[in-house]
Amino acid sequence: MEMEGAFVGKTILVIEDEQQIVEICRDYLTANGFEVASASDGIAGLKLAESIHPVLVLLDLMLPGMDGIEICRRLRLHSAVPIIILTARHREADKLEGLQTGADDYITKPFSPREMVARVQAVLRRTENHPESETEKATAIRLDRDHYRALLPAGEVSLTPTEFDILSILSSQPGEVFSRGQLLNLIRGVSFGSYERAIDSHIRNLRRKVDRDGDNKRHIITVHGYGYKYVE
Ligand code: CA
Repeated sequence: MEMEGAFVGKTILVIEDEQQIVEICRDYLTANGFEVASASDGIAGLKLAESIHPVLVLLDLMLPGMDGIEICRRLRLHSAVPIIILTARHREADKLEGLQTGADDYITKPFSPREMVARVQAVLRRTENHPESETEKATAIRLDRDHYRALLPAGEVSLTPTEFDILSILSSQPGEVFSRGQLLNLIRGVSFGSYERAIDSHIRNLRRKVDRDGDNKRHIITVHGYGYKYVE
């Protein structure tokens, strides 16, 4: 495991276990005014992404520790940070899965360093009008992802990581109904049984915390026969 350059600012995080590629990215990105932090395994990469809040993540898919698709999925639970996947040419299915999981673009290895820089700049241009915390700010319940807390008009409550994930998914799209299966799928990787009904007990606990009296409103609504939605 290797972590370098844990600074905040215009930092690109490179999660890649091939040191040669990390160095190429570092050289070209720093030459273009970016700072570069890197991690050579998946778990370290995820932790670094959560702690330094990079402006963009360059993410290799084949990594020790945790694969890139899973990292992408987990990042997307709480973060809108732009993600560009680095993938080998022959792994077409990975590319697709990555994009479906929420990556913004992909670069096929071997790549031209100049093209990589151009892609990074293009993705940043495309996403810079959508700051990461926009959706969270817009909701009546504010989420504090660093401490797994929900900040309600009536006060703050501590949530389990799973409850936090569910609430963060529901409240990211107020009014939109999510089925248990969709929720389960979006949270995949958290220790769940394979039963969709497992969602119900988390919802029950979540409601006890965020729908308690105080502001006298219910935020998490059951849509019978389908799933749940969040309302302001
Ligand atoms: Ca690799």
